[in-house]
Amino acid sequence: MNNKKRNELLALPGRSRLNETLSCILHCGNFRHGVSRYCSTHLGRLLRYGGPTQQRVEKSTLAPEVAIMRKFLKHNDTHPSVIAAQDWLTKFVRQIAEIKGSPGQAQMRQLVYDGFTESAPVSKWIPNGQREMLATVLATFYYAIKRPAALPANEPLTYALFNHLIRLASPVKRGRLKYNANTGREEILYSYPQPGAAVRRLRGREIRTTLASFADKVFSALERQHQLEVERRQKLETDFKDGDLKHRKRYIPRPPDAPRKREPNAGTFQRGGRNKFPPGYVPKGKRG
Ligand SMILES: [Zn+2]
Repeated sequence: MNNKKRNELLALPGRSRLNETLSCILHCGNFRHGVSRYCSTHLGRLLRYGGPTQQRVEKSTLAPEVAIMRKFLKHNDTHPSVIAAQDWLTKFVRQIAEIKGSPGQAQMRQLVYDGFTESAPVSKWIPNGQREMLATVLATFYYAIKRPAALPANEPLTYALFNHLIRLASPVKRGRLKYNANTGREEILYSYPQPGAAVRRLRGREIRTTLASFADKVFSALERQHQLEVERRQKLETDFKDGDLKHRKRYIPRPPDAPRKREPNAGTFQRGGRNKFPPGYVPKGKRG
């Protein structure tokens, strides 16, 4: 009897060992993971995105909304609410980054390091770090409103708010080496510090509960802006009435059932126009 076999026999079937013989409650065909009701795939999604079937909202998916919010915030950068929201978010990030061991410190420290807590350019494409952070948060809210199926509940939105905020920062140099099969050498690994589910939920909730009402005001402003644009366009679409047509001397509207006076295609002859030949002329190939 080898060691492994003996250990298996001696070990008491713990909570997880029993549990792992059962199937995932979503009936995906996999066994459960640890003491969870879900398999490892669905548990991973629950911990990272706030729901067992929740998918990641990619950064590129959010890009159009971020662009809208960036523009809006730039135009309203003197508005007291915008200033207050930017200040709160900056303070929020800085405070967490400073306190050692506070949940989310590694992620927030990276945001501070990259310069997102300054109103100065972060990179060639990001002219204002503070504004970019707020634009990202607002864009996540906006996406959740526009696509309710993508972020269907409060919890996925909470996680997405935190996830998108920390994904602004660049990946961090980790203390280990990784073998690169393409170059055949060991290279320093760069990756994002992954926070646990508790951190995402805690910090995400703080962002959501604080900035939700501000986001609501921004969206009603955008809605009003859209409404004004619609009204402006509708003005261009007003129908012309008979009274508006006085400049035409002999305008007599034809009743809908009256026969047309001329055949539709027997119009005036124009060289190079639609009617190539004068009326009554039969081309050579088609003569009787
Ligand atoms: Zn599953």
